[in-house]
Amino acid sequence: MNILLPTSIVGSLPKPAWLAPPEKLWSPWILEGDKLMEGKQDALRIALQEQLLAGADIICDGEQTRQHFVTTFIEHLSGVDFENRKIVKIRNRYDASVPVVVNEIARQKAVFVDDAKFLRKQTDKPIKWALPGPMTMVDTLYDAHYKSREKLAWEFAKVLNEEAKELQAAGVDIIQFDEPAFNVFFDEVNDWGMAALERAIDGLHCETAVHVCYGYGIQANNHWKKTLGSEWRQYEEIFPKIQKSNIDIVSLECHNSNVPVSLIELVRGKKVMVGAIDVASAKIETPEEVADTLRRTLEFVNIENLYPSTNCGMAPLSRNIARGKLSALSAGAKIIRNEFAI
Ligand SMILES: [Zn+2]
Repeated sequence: MNILLPTSIVGSLPKPAWLAPPEKLWSPWILEGDKLMEGKQDALRIALQEQLLAGADIICDGEQTRQHFVTTFIEHLSGVDFENRKIVKIRNRYDASVPVVVNEIARQKAVFVDDAKFLRKQTDKPIKWALPGPMTMVDTLYDAHYKSREKLAWEFAKVLNEEAKELQAAGVDIIQFDEPAFNVFFDEVNDWGMAALERAIDGLHCETAVHVCYGYGIQANNHWKKTLGSEWRQYEEIFPKIQKSNIDIVSLECHNSNVPVSLIELVRGKKVMVGAIDVASAKIETPEEVADTLRRTLEFVNIENLYPSTNCGMAPLSRNIARGKLSALSAGAKIIRNEFAI
């Protein structure tokens, strides 16, 4: 990246109300057929413009073409039954109605590649595309076929790798894997979760990122966070493994959280997307607050490796608030850039 402190969001932005009812997860599409296709592309154009206007340096699709960051990918795979769903506890935390793996899974066709090509045509800026990570996929469905989280993760890693290679060929600069489950199942991360992620990035020459967070600002997550005490040390369990991996960028939660910033030292050498925007609060950060968070991390990450970002996706927020937070992120990064200008 030829700019100091390149800014980007983790992934999602709120959708326009004419596309899906706002401020909720798994929000259903309002349009159908060709109109839905056109509506998604229009929403992509808007998401791009809003990021450009706010001064984002790395552009994302704002996840405008997917209903949910995990299930939309799974919907495109064969071997999964979406009709007869099951209620399971996900992230060891809350119940969700999820699809069921009933047979060997396979990716019959590309999932996001056309969307990525569409976005690529509209901007010369670097683009980042988010995919769910294998472990988080395993933790967002019911498996009635493989009967092994590890085996299923391995199969998901293979299809994610196929998708990632096509996204790379479509001109995506950074492919990010969302692994919130890494913050919950430490033993599994160390046993097979990281290995599955490495399988998913196998053979890629674009940059790769892993996003590990404390979730969207929804009630179940906010309750969970209250049980984690005054210091959230989950990253301590998994960062050493990530540090040794081939992943280039680590995206983590920082602003307004109880994560000790010193834990960033554990991924020294990696690029670090520091969450300097709280997605669980409707209060828009001031540029100074963003700058303060970034400044605190500089003891543990070299400035050329610091990528200012959000704590997680902004899908459940109102559009105005998300817009304000986007601008605050850029303005905060600018303060630090000016401090370091020679
Ligand atoms: Zn997240």
